[in-house]
Amino acid sequence: MRTILSCLLLQACSLAVTAQPVPAPQGGGSYRTEALPCLLPADYQRINSMLEKNIAQLKAEGKLAADWGTSQPADAKPTAGTFIWPLRQEPGFSYNSYYGISNYVDLDPLYPNQVKDWNCGARTYDQASGYNHQGVDIFLWPFSQQMQENQQVAIVAAADGVIIGKDDGNPDHSCALNNAAWNAVYIGNSDGTICWYGHMKTGSQTAKGPGQSVVAGEFLGYVGSSGNSTGPHLHFETHTGSGDILDPFVGPCRPGASLWANQKPYIEPTINTLMTHGHAPVFPDCPQLETINAQSLFHPGDTLFAAAYYHDQNPASPSIYTLYRPDNSVFQTWTHSSPQYYNASYWYWYWKVGASWPSGDWRFEVSYEGHTVNHVFKVEAGSGIARINAGSDALVIVPNPNHGIFTIEGLASQLETLSYRVTNVAGRTVATGHIAKGSGRVALAQQQPKGIYILQLDEAKGHRSYLRFLIR
Ligand SMILES: [Zn+2]
Repeated sequence: MRTILSCLLLQACSLAVTAQPVPAPQGGGSYRTEALPCLLPADYQRINSMLEKNIAQLKAEGKLAADWGTSQPADAKPTAGTFIWPLRQEPGFSYNSYYGISNYVDLDPLYPNQVKDWNCGARTYDQASGYNHQGVDIFLWPFSQQMQENQQVAIVAAADGVIIGKDDGNPDHSCALNNAAWNAVYIGNSDGTICWYGHMKTGSQTAKGPGQSVVAGEFLGYVGSSGNSTGPHLHFETHTGSGDILDPFVGPCRPGASLWANQKPYIEPTINTLMTHGHAPVFPDCPQLETINAQSLFHPGDTLFAAAYYHDQNPASPSIYTLYRPDNSVFQTWTHSSPQYYNASYWYWYWKVGASWPSGDWRFEVSYEGHTVNHVFKVEAGSGIARINAGSDALVIVPNPNHGIFTIEGLASQLETLSYRVTNVAGRTVATGHIAKGSGRVALAQQQPKGIYILQLDEAKGHRSYLRFLIR
């Protein structure tokens, strides 16, 4: 699987702030996937021979039944309706959805450019070398590198079974075809079929080893980009006990029974998440981490970016976007449709937060395909609260009043609590206190005259720094 992030619109990369949003998105793009063999013939040879050896040994040790995988003829039907979805979002993360599908199994044995997936579509690929894609590629979206880094999405067993092999210790930040080995867990399911879970993050696998049982839904490892891969995704491949490829999906071009307990639709138009950002999200080249610029607290003068992230966005289906004020009145509503189908896409709009915006919990809501997703963000405005705008030279407190709680942009990501002292040009201390970890907040209890002030910052380990700011 190969992923490319593209800017769709000329204005997409412009950060110019306009007073009023326009119906067209002010930024966005797609996350395209391209064909790349997840496994090469040499990989299949190595993995199959490892598994064959392991299975024989596990049978000899009594950890696998002697007739496991052989009790069925090669064309026997595996147990239908047992597979659960092999990915799970970890606690603490709350995306509405976190993946998209880029490729299914290529059921057409001919090649090249002769492909057919279970729905008789071309959502798969083959290669001139004779490779027909043999698994399902499920990629992470949005911010897949961050999701890998933060272990946001776990790979879980699709069915009960016994671990029959593991590969680990291989680099997990692949961005291209590199002939590298992957990290994977291989499970012999109770019904004699075998599932491969590939491209895992290095060192993230379950401590269980070959011969140990797992149950459906049990943690196996985290999604990574090891082996032939250009971005974090799971390659999920199913074999019969005799080694034939099995497509777990059923449809017009794959008759029989689905192996899934709940087979997902071929195309699944879904909002993956809504976010607000202080700056546009940045998607650098693989494997660099994306800069999400997530922000849920805004002050007058800030720029509010409201973004929606989709998989399988259907161009025929418009989304209704609404920003609600804290009293539930509509601040603005608009509709948008994707100009074409993408398996992953995002769109954003932005506003300058005005001094008249009421304080409280605002809501960004999008209705799409019969589902509504919400994201709450906070606006803090009104008396006594302003912001020190980070500047290259002086920090300027705007707007007035010039006392209250001030947030210093560059300090919002501080790692420890800082103590501070504010002095005026005469050297007189006008405020002291502590800036809580990650808050960037400084309090000026009393109104101060216009002029230049010095903010002294002291870290626990003794490092001292100064920032100059202007009250005007
Ligand atoms: Zn694959």
